[in-house]
Amino acid sequence: MVKPLISRWLNLMGDFLFPGNCPVCGDAPFADPGSYACRECMDRIAWIRGNGCRICGLPMWGMGFGGLTCRACREDPPVFQSGRCLFHLDETGKKVIHEIKYHGVRPVLRDLPNWLERTPGTLEFLEGCDLVPVPLHRKRLRARGFNQSVWIARALSEAAGGKPRVREALRRTSDTPTQTSLDRKTRKANVKDAFALCSRRPIHELSPIVLVDDVYTTGATLDSCARVLVEGGCRVVKFLALGRG
Ligand SMILES: [Zn+2]
Ligand SMILES: [Zn+2]
Repeated sequence: MVKPLISRWLNLMGDFLFPGNCPVCGDAPFADPGSYACRECMDRIAWIRGNGCRICGLPMWGMGFGGLTCRACREDPPVFQSGRCLFHLDETGKKVIHEIKYHGVRPVLRDLPNWLERTPGTLEFLEGCDLVPVPLHRKRLRARGFNQSVWIARALSEAAGGKPRVREALRRTSDTPTQTSLDRKTRKANVKDAFALCSRRPIHELSPIVLVDDVYTTGATLDSCARVLVEGGCRVVKFLALGRG
């Protein structure tokens, strides 16, 4: 329980003592105060642009028109209406997420405005919506010390000029095991009923919602959250995740 916190503080201390090294590639000192990762890493990230599944955003190259859905969304339509991710979780993408999620390096998110420039349409996608971060179970929150999805939602809100409000409207009711090695079906069963509305925040007052998470893998977690919001009265639920696995 103490370990993640210690590693987080060690990393932050390392950043303080040895500033200037790119946290993604580890070398290439840079002198760009506007960016946390070096320019080479920014260029190397596999940004998601162009056409994709109109529901889950899965990139579908070679398609010259919209309105298509991918096989997974056709066979098992999700509750969320649409969504997008900023980059693929290749080696570089994974490192970016790892820095935020496991090393607790929040300053990585200072680069978010640059990321949004590289993924045209993202700010428009957030327009008129409230941002609801995917919650962590309180046990996990206590162990990690922060919820990366809240950080991401706040950074998005800031990058969008503060208009989209961050509403922590959901809570996690069961502490599900880590999903990394599980297939789609098992993940879905795992997170079914794992979320509930925060009773203190009436859902009917909310604008259209964009759920915010660090990564999208099968969409099971985000869809489970979307179901709770829709059952609570939300009519429009979308999602945004940084990385797509
Ligand atoms: Zn770098
Ligand atoms: Zn899809």
